[in-house]
Order: sequence, then C-alpha cells, then structure tokens
Amino acid sequence: MSTKSKGLAVLQGKCPQCREGHLFTHGAYNLKNFMKTRTHCEVCNVRFEKEPRFFDGAMYISYAFSVGLFLVSAFIIYAFFHPVSENVYLIAIISEVFLLYPLMFRYARIFYLYIFGGLKYKSELERTENN
Ligand SMILES: [Zn+2]
Repeated sequence: MSTKSKGLAVLQGKCPQCREGHLFTHGAYNLKNFMKTRTHCEVCNVRFEKEPRFFDGAMYISYAFSVGLFLVSAFIIYAFFHPVSENVYLIAIISEVFLLYPLMFRYARIFYLYIFGGLKYKSELERTENN
C-alpha cells in the first residue's frame, strides 16, 4: 500500500493514480533518454497520454519555468553582482538553461499530467476492486 503524499509523488515523477509507477523510463541526467515518457503506468497500467500529443501542452509550463528562471537569475545577478557586463547575464542564463533543461522538461510534463491528466489517486485496494 502506498501512503506517499501527492507532493512527494510529483517530486519523484510518479503516476498520479497509484503514486508508484514512474512517468519516465530513465533518469533526468541520462542525456540520451531523459525525454522518454511511458505511455502507460508500469504498476497500475493507467494511460498517461489521454489523447495523441497530450504532452505538447506541457510546453507552456516549460516556457513559464524558463521565464521564471530568467527573471530570478537576472534579479540575483543584478542584486549581488551589479555592475557587470551584459555578457555575464547572457552566459549565466544560457548555462542555467542547459543545466536545468532536463529537469524543466520533466517537471513541465509531470505538472501538466497532474493538472490536466484527469487522474485521481486510488489506493491499491480501490484499484483492485475496480478491475
Ligand atoms: Zn500507476
């Protein structure tokens, strides 16, 4: 029986329905495969992509992450290192985007699935009763 909280399940990229199965097939910094998303949960077999190209909508969340990262970085550089050349802002933000891209990509999909996937948490007992 999973007693995992929703917050922990989101943080670990777990299935919204069982909070046990993984949404992604590989680790975040497996640079070749970090984007590979399962079509179904490996534990409860629920379908993650409720329609073709479902996860395309996660791009908007990813965009919001990028804008947030840009604003926070620019603020920190300005607050603590001002005055610096514009190149410092550019190099800092570009390297942050490269370093954090796998995490932003994955959390955009995880948030999108939790918000728009229409899946509710069911305990192991509830899942076996319905099958
Ligand atoms: Zn599941």
